[in-house]
Amino acid sequence: MTAASLLLCNVRIPDANGKLTPYCAVQIEAGKIARFFSEPYPKVSAAQRLDAKGHLALPAFCDSHTHFSEYGLRLTQLDLSGLSLQAALERIRKRVATAPKETWITGGGWTRQAFGLFPTAAMLDEISTEHFIALRSADWHAAWCNSRVLQKLHPHEFAEAELPCDEQGRFKSVAFERAAKKAMSFVTISAQERQAAIKLAQEEFFKLGITEILTMEESAALPDYHALGETLKLRVRVAIYLESLDAAKKFYAAHPNTNTSLEAAKLFLDGSLGSETCSMLEPFEGQRSSGIDFYSDADLVALFKLVEREGLAISVHAIGDRAVRRALNAFEKLRAQSSPQATGAALPHRIEHAQTIHDSDVTRFAKHGIIASMQPVHIRADIALARRLLGARAERLYRFNSLQSSGATLIFGSDTPVESPNVFEGLFYAIVRCDEQGQVWYGHERLRLQDAVLAYTVNPRRIIHAPRGALEVGCEADIILLSENIFQIPLQNLAQVQVLATILGGEVVYSVL
Ligand SMILES: [Zn+2]
Repeated sequence: MTAASLLLCNVRIPDANGKLTPYCAVQIEAGKIARFFSEPYPKVSAAQRLDAKGHLALPAFCDSHTHFSEYGLRLTQLDLSGLSLQAALERIRKRVATAPKETWITGGGWTRQAFGLFPTAAMLDEISTEHFIALRSADWHAAWCNSRVLQKLHPHEFAEAELPCDEQGRFKSVAFERAAKKAMSFVTISAQERQAAIKLAQEEFFKLGITEILTMEESAALPDYHALGETLKLRVRVAIYLESLDAAKKFYAAHPNTNTSLEAAKLFLDGSLGSETCSMLEPFEGQRSSGIDFYSDADLVALFKLVEREGLAISVHAIGDRAVRRALNAFEKLRAQSSPQATGAALPHRIEHAQTIHDSDVTRFAKHGIIASMQPVHIRADIALARRLLGARAERLYRFNSLQSSGATLIFGSDTPVESPNVFEGLFYAIVRCDEQGQVWYGHERLRLQDAVLAYTVNPRRIIHAPRGALEVGCEADIILLSENIFQIPLQNLAQVQVLATILGGEVVYSVL
């Protein structure tokens, strides 16, 4: 990255309590904040000037839990959600017109309801037989493909209902269930397409004021980031899935100066609330099941040790209260078993999601220095699920304030593409915490706005000792300008706030000013 010099003029900066101070200018040199001018400033040389027009500046955001390359692919694929058949065909035709022959056109979101019927391969063949077209239904149980794709299937392997054909053996409809799964398994995405997807995702994140991420990746994605070279400006920190840790180590050994950094290894202790697979201390309401557990307790401690020996942080996925407790137990054992000489990992370990926490476990985060890496925006979908599956235990969910008050460090993320990457939506749920009817949900766990902002700015940088995340002299100049003063608007309007400009290391990477 080229370290830029910039003069950011006419800007207002909030203090820890949200009180604003107007500055005539902020001088940025070699990518870092060099000086604040509260009075008209003498002539200073700067390669570039940006007039903030009195708007509020904040440190740029860090998304501490995203699946970034996956998110990029979603952005590039066709979205047919809610479209009529005619509108869908039009959208597909447009995409085909700009796609090189012999490439895949993929995406989905169509429904029989919106189409009025099940579409056919012939409809897609009319658009192209020189591309591979495979489009999932919204519920993922069917795939609408052209015959170029369906020809790869062997009809005798499927029931008639899975791959309906007429007497001449022509495909009559779409592929269902196993045939759909098989058809989608042929989809290949070229390295160029994957890299273009990452670039597109970067643009989206800059628009949202996000300059830094911790992304959950397989080692296979690392060369795609690397190939982008300096085009990748976003600060990309990687949590690698444990299964591909060895491959990732080899990659980083061979590319010591690459544009991403390996920070953590990610492993799973349970599933999710939506699929009723998170691991709970007691069964779900009215059921015998209490979710599923991965790894034995002994294996878990051994795996934690292995990750720590690599000098990496442990990022452990735990959603149910039993999974969170098992993670904390394992961290406790890890601490107890490490020799007095061993300082352990340089970076603190995290529990990803930490969604359901039993009363007796809340203070253990702070006690053992375990970071709670949470995604407030998941509250939107989880309120109804929690009511049905957890009953009164729903009060154990998203314990922002309890954790914060006990001295734990919170870092926030989005879990894109599962949820929206928009930080203001996350802030809304951390602070307002209400359901779709506007009813506040366990209001005692709401955070103050200032504290929620810290979880997207200062905290995720402080835990890795990075000199950024605050608007102070000497800090790397990752700064955003906002459409509103978030400390004065009604909290209900938070989710509508826009980012007007994003500055990364002193370089303006996005601006509508
Ligand atoms: Zn995730």
